[in-house]
Amino acid sequence: MRIDAITLFPEWLLEIERYGVVGRGLRQNRLSLAAWNPRDYTSDPTRRVDDRPYGGGPGMVMQSAPLAATLEAIERARGASAPVLLMSPQGERFDQRWAERLAAGSGFVLVCGRYEGIDQRFIDRHADAELSAGDMVLSGGELPAMMIIDAVARLIAGVLGDARSAAEDSFANAILDHPHYTRPPADEAGAVPDILLSGDHARIARWREKQALGRTWLRRPDLLDAIELDQRQQALLTEFVAEYAERVPRP
Ligand code: SAH
Repeated sequence: MRIDAITLFPEWLLEIERYGVVGRGLRQNRLSLAAWNPRDYTSDPTRRVDDRPYGGGPGMVMQSAPLAATLEAIERARGASAPVLLMSPQGERFDQRWAERLAAGSGFVLVCGRYEGIDQRFIDRHADAELSAGDMVLSGGELPAMMIIDAVARLIAGVLGDARSAAEDSFANAILDHPHYTRPPADEAGAVPDILLSGDHARIARWREKQALGRTWLRRPDLLDAIELDQRQQALLTEFVAEYAERVPRP
């Protein structure tokens, strides 16, 4: 898997190679990351890559030509074209399904905007998709790009120490993860649920699945609307709801 990113701040983006499991995966070459600065691909002697917007208004717009030239250099380096994904608050919301889809491919190119954004002609001609980090406006596409690299990298075999972690995460099974506890068994914040200390793996698995379903019901009912629970899951959720009603009396 090879990821290329076009950014005015390549050093910042490449910082993610230094930290955590994703950094380790990158250093071990399970996936490779390259960052490209469009200032290196402009014919302007001052290395300028932006200009004032046609029609007036505040701010600057990233020009198409330096981005297109950068993309060409990337395609030469890759020896093939790859999906071009533009970071944009107007794009499709990036989520775990997108991460899984990208992790299944052989790589992609992320384009990070700055200023007021990117000349629409570049977007129309070169972008295969526009991806958003959420309904807020950031000052650049670098953080969304790093977010995408992180989410995809941890799905690549061998990047996470234990592949089961990714399989059990929130969204992996279209529902949220169960709560986690570690030592000590009791402290000032309370006690660990007895069942987790029981050593009974079947009961623990059942408890975790019930909690995962219950949390999803409490926090993200929209996720439950989107899937079909089997009979066993439905029974676990009914049990959770009954226990919850007992714990939290309705006013
Ligand atoms: N005027 C633009 C925002 C420009 S922000 C608009 O309102 O649509 C500058 C750059 O930051 C964008 O080109 C994009 O690459 C990036 N960016 C900002 N917010 C983002 C978000 N929520 N998701 C992904 N990229 C974002």
